[in-house]
Formats: sequence, structure tokens, C-alpha cells
Amino acid sequence: MCVRVYEVRVKRALAPSGLPEYDYALNPYVGCLHGCLYCYAMDYTRGPPAAAWGSVVYVKVNLLEVLRREVGRVRPGVVGLSTVTDPYQPPEAKYKLTRGAVSILAGAGFRVSIQTKSGMVVRDVDVLVAHREAVDVGVTITTLADKARILEPMAAHPYARAQAVRKLAAAGVKTWIFLGPIIPGFNDGAEDIEPVVKLAHETGSELYYDRYRPKPRADAYLAAKYRPVAATPSWWAEVKKTVEAICARYGARCIDAEEERRAAFKAST
Ligand code: SF4
Repeated sequence: MCVRVYEVRVKRALAPSGLPEYDYALNPYVGCLHGCLYCYAMDYTRGPPAAAWGSVVYVKVNLLEVLRREVGRVRPGVVGLSTVTDPYQPPEAKYKLTRGAVSILAGAGFRVSIQTKSGMVVRDVDVLVAHREAVDVGVTITTLADKARILEPMAAHPYARAQAVRKLAAAGVKTWIFLGPIIPGFNDGAEDIEPVVKLAHETGSELYYDRYRPKPRADAYLAAKYRPVAATPSWWAEVKKTVEAICARYGARCIDAEEERRAAFKAST
């Protein structure tokens, strides 16, 4: 696949977050070269990075300069890094925007919550450890099986992600695992769920789990490149039981992401 990376300049770095758990969203990139087939970010992205999902990315080259100015002007809060892109996708190796943003934010009294599907996060263990009181790192693992490649063609192999969780946790960084989206007939069986729960238990990570949530563009993209996906409430009720039973067996702390979000939303209103 031909990948195109464009440098763009921005006027703002932090955006208000639509998610109740974050005060701000910080997205150093527009689009994502991991190109996951189910990615809901497609529905929140405009222009070429959305139209050619997984092959075009915009790099906000002046992000750190803008962020340094902004942190002195806005109330410190919790920053989701990132909410509609992966903060450790390939261009981060060169641009180091995520690395720089963590230092600026944590140094200015913000909390930073990172979520990624890349092992590159381990590169920044020094920064993450230095700011461990203000930082948590979530790694998304839908399954540890090789079939992850079908839906996450350019993301790191799940073993590399598991290794990243182990290394960060061993270094004292607060880690969590996102088991999601859980997709009917793809990763909803105990054989997929159990190894992820086991990893959460081993590393002392909280595990958030969630189902696939329909979105127009993501639905169409999945249907075209994989197959149509339809999740019913009765299917989800069964999957939840499976997840909770496995978590109870391992003594892992597992949280239904949707329920948690609803509770956070209620608390904030
Ligand atoms: S890594 Fe995240 S943001 Fe990137 S394509 Fe996959 S789901 Fe979307």
C-alpha cells in the first residue's frame, strides 16, 4: 500500500473532549496508518485521511509549540492522548510529538491518559516513569491470536503489544488493557478473551472491555473489506457473562467500558 504523510500546521492543540472521562483530547496526527477495519475514528475524520483510511496521515508539526502556549492558558485537567488516532503510529518514530506532549502536559499539572496499539510506547518509558503520577497507558488488544491482522492490518502484532504492557508495568507505569471492540464471531469466544484477561491479571492492569459500536463509515468499511457485522443485545449479554466469569476466575479487575462511561457521564451532569 502506498502511504502518504503530510505535514500540516495547527492553531490549536487541545480540544474539548466529548468523552466524560477526559477534559481534553489531544491528537497529534489526523488519520491513522494502522488502518483498522472497524475504526470508529473514520467517522470523526475528514478529508483524505478519512477517504483513504490507513494510507494518508497528517502530522501536526507545530503541535508542541502550540501546546506549550496553551497549557499556561487553560485549566489543567485530564487529557486523552489520543482519541481519534494512534499516538504511536509510524510517523511518531520521527516526529516524537506524543513524547513531547506527555512531558509538556505532565510538567504543567495535567493528567495524561494514553491509548495505543503500538509497541513504540516502550521507547518513551523514561518519560512515562518520570511522570508516573500523572500518566496511565492503555494498550488495545482485541485478541492475542494472529488473526488480529485481519482487522488490524498495520498495527503491531498483539504479542508486541503484550510485551509493551509487561515492560511498562514492570517499570512502574500504570497500565490498562482495552479488550475491544469485541466483534460477533471474531473475538467473542473464551479462547480469545481468556489470554487477554490473563495478561491483565499478570501485569496488574485493569481491563476495559467493550462491544463493536455501529458507525456508518466503519460499518461500510468492515462490510467491504471483511464482512457485515451486527451486534445484538442478547449476543452482548452472553459475551459479558463470559468475560465476567473469566475475570472472576483470574481475579482480574474488568470493567464494562460503556457502563463506566455512563456512570462518569451521570456524575459529570
Ligand atoms: S489504531 Fe486506533 S485509531 Fe488507528 S486505525 Fe486502529 S482503531 Fe483506529
